[in-house]
Amino acid sequence: MAEAPTPPTIERSDVHTVDDERFSRENVCLVTGAASGIGRAVALVAAVNGLTVVATDVDGDGLDGTAARAAELDAEGTVETVTADLRIDGEMDDLVETAAGRGKLRFLANVAGLQHVDPIDEFPMERYDAIQDVMVRAPTYLAKRCMPHLREAGGCVGNMASVHGHYVTSDKVAYNVAKFGIRGLTQSIAAEGDGDVRSFSVSTGYVKTPLVTGQIPDTAAQRGISEREVVEDVMLGQSRSTEMMDPVDVGNLFLVGFSHLGAHLNGGDLLFDGGMTLTYE
Ligand code: NAD
Repeated sequence: MAEAPTPPTIERSDVHTVDDERFSRENVCLVTGAASGIGRAVALVAAVNGLTVVATDVDGDGLDGTAARAAELDAEGTVETVTADLRIDGEMDDLVETAAGRGKLRFLANVAGLQHVDPIDEFPMERYDAIQDVMVRAPTYLAKRCMPHLREAGGCVGNMASVHGHYVTSDKVAYNVAKFGIRGLTQSIAAEGDGDVRSFSVSTGYVKTPLVTGQIPDTAAQRGISEREVVEDVMLGQSRSTEMMDPVDVGNLFLVGFSHLGAHLNGGDLLFDGGMTLTYE
């Protein structure tokens, strides 16, 4: 039986590059959640595509790892790291000011997130508030602060949603509400972008990030099944695909959305879920 997946290291050959005149060092891409998983992948793909990336997270050590990997990949663009907590408005103000000071701020990727599993009856409201703050309020606040810059240069906001922005599972009420919320934000930006600022969201099923692969041994032990069964039955049970996505696959999607290939993608959702939400047996 095959081993359970581990988070892969991003290689240059995994990264798709798009020939787009705006993908150059004079243009800035601000990426949240960039210390780990999908956010790190978006930052690295953006840097390899030639952009000046301002990568932010509350986890400074993880950000160092992202910057080191960008150097190892010999990225055409750059990765500058800014440690900031997305629950603090002042830190987000400084972050946007830094990003706007590095060139034309044209791209914002809202990726940071967290999870909490408990039934509604017992859901701790401080965890609910933290999830809404990081996954809905902060993307809205960053969009608000970035909007004047994006309007000036022409730009795009990409938001990380999920299959949980389309349908829901039990015991994840805060996450479910947040992912439906981020799709509302995405469409609001499209409505108010006047064609100068586009937006899109990305909805995937399970992706091989530390957040997901770290849960596999515990879930296997709790349920008395193998780690592979956790992946195949619990995580991919409703999917037609039998492999989880890699973080870089999601990073590539963000850059396609930001590029001219996404010119008519405005307010829409890139549902890459292996058939999970649209089919059943
Ligand atoms: P991850 O845990 O690897 O990365 C999330 C990052 O967000 C972490 O680096 C964390 O430090 C950061 N973060 C959390 N709270 C913060 C705060 N207050 N301020 C600043 N940064 C903060 O997780 P991931 O799997 O890469 O998930 C990234 C996004 O993708 C999330 O929005 C998640 O909901 C979404 N998503 C993940 C999957 C998946 O299967 N991994 C699937 C669909 C959607």
